[in-house]
Amino acid sequence: MLADKDRIFRNLYGRHDSGLKGARMRGAWDGTKAILEKGRETIVNEVKASGLRGRGGAGFPTGLKWSFMPKQIGERPHYLVVNADESEPGTCKDREIMRNDPHLLIEGCLIAGCAMGAHAGYIYVRGEFIRERERLQAAIDEAYEAKLIGKNNVHGWDFDLYVHHGAGAYICGEETALLESLEGKKGQPRLKPPFPANVGLYGCPTTVQNVESISVVPDIMRRGASWFAGIGRPNNTGTKLFCISGHVNKSCNVEETMGIPLRELLEKHAGGVRGGWDNLLAVIPGGSSMPLIPAGETGCDDLLMDFDGCAKHKSALGTAGVVVMDKSTDIIRAMARISYFYKHESCGQCTPCREGMGWMWRVLMRMAEGRAQKKEVDMLWDVTKQIEGHTICAFGDGAAWPVQGLLRHFRPEIERRIDQYTRNADAHGAVREAAE
Ligand code: SF4
Repeated sequence: MLADKDRIFRNLYGRHDSGLKGARMRGAWDGTKAILEKGRETIVNEVKASGLRGRGGAGFPTGLKWSFMPKQIGERPHYLVVNADESEPGTCKDREIMRNDPHLLIEGCLIAGCAMGAHAGYIYVRGEFIRERERLQAAIDEAYEAKLIGKNNVHGWDFDLYVHHGAGAYICGEETALLESLEGKKGQPRLKPPFPANVGLYGCPTTVQNVESISVVPDIMRRGASWFAGIGRPNNTGTKLFCISGHVNKSCNVEETMGIPLRELLEKHAGGVRGGWDNLLAVIPGGSSMPLIPAGETGCDDLLMDFDGCAKHKSALGTAGVVVMDKSTDIIRAMARISYFYKHESCGQCTPCREGMGWMWRVLMRMAEGRAQKKEVDMLWDVTKQIEGHTICAFGDGAAWPVQGLLRHFRPEIERRIDQYTRNADAHGAVREAAE
C-alpha cells in the first residue's frame, strides 16, 4: 500500500484549496527554476531513469518519447500538447487532476516544455469537461499573474499555455485525431509515419502526452528518479491513479502503488466486491477497450495491477479504469453495450472499423439472447482478428479486444444460451404443432 509521504496527488478529492496558494503549500512550484536550469538533456534523462510510462493507456516510456523530439530547435517551433480528452469509459482521473490539483499539471507542462524545447503548450480538454476547463483556466491565469509561466517569467523559460475545448468525440483522444481537431479540422486520425515528434501540430515537432503523465513529472524532478523508480516493480514503476467503478461497495478514485494486487486495491479502497470476493465475475482492468479478466485462480485472484501483471492475463493496464462486474452481470450484453459505444464513436475512415463495429454489436446482441448459431462464435473471433491491426489507428484494436476477451473466457456461456434458445424454440414449435 502506498505510504502517505509518497503520494503525489494530495488534493485528489478536492478537500483543500486548488488555487496557487494551496498548491504551493502542498509543494508545487517549489524549486522549479533549479529544475529547468538542469537543462533539457538532464530532465529527459531523469524522466527516463524514473521508469515513468505513459498513463494515458499505451504505457510508452515517457522519457524515451520526449527524446524523439529534435535536439536543435530549427525553423519550426516545438509544441507540447496535453491530451485531456479523457473519454475512455470507466476512466475519470485526469478530470480530478484538472479540478483539484491543476497547478501540478501546469508546472509539469512548463518542465516538459523546457525538456522538449517547446515555448508553447496546448491542453486539449474533453468537450463535456466544462467545470474542469474553468478551474484549469483559472489556475493558468493565476500562474500567468504570478509570472510562473508566460514571456519573461521567473523561471527563465518562456512558455505560453493554451486551453482548447474539444467538442466531445472519443476519437479525439487519439493523438493524431487530437492534433487535427486542434488545427480546426475534423477529428480523424492521421496515418503514421510521420510521427508527431517529426510532423505534429501545424506540421511542427510535437509531443502529445496524457495529463497524469505530465502531472507527476514535477515530483519526479523534485524527489529524484530513484524515489519514483523505487515504488512498484521494475518496468512498472511509480504511483498510479486507479478509477474503481461498477459492482463494488464504494466506487472511488485512488492513488496507489503500481503492481498492487487487485483484491487489495478493491478491498482497501472500494469496500470490496458487492456480495464478497466470491461474487466476482470479471474485471476490466484498464478502461472499456481492454479485454476482461475473469474471476478465479487463473484470473483476478493473482492479478497485479500494472502493465506486466495485466499482460500476463492477456489484457492491459490501459488507463487503470477498473470496472468490476459481479455475478449478476449479463456479461454478453455488457460487452454488446461496449461494442455499441465503439460503433457510435468510429470515425469511419477505415472499412474494417466502420463496418466491423456494427457487425460485432449486432451479432453480440443476438448472442445475448441466444439467437445465434454456434459457428458464429468462431466467425466473430475471425472478424475481431480482421479488425485488429488492420486500421489506421488503435481504435480498431481497442474495440476488438473486449470482444476477444468475452470469447476467450465466456464461450461456454454463449453456447449455453444458444442451446437454451434452441430448446425453447423447439418446445414452442411442439406446442404449436399439438395445438394445430
Ligand atoms: Fe477511424 Fe476506426 Fe479507422 Fe481509427 S480505426 S481511423 S477510428 S475508422
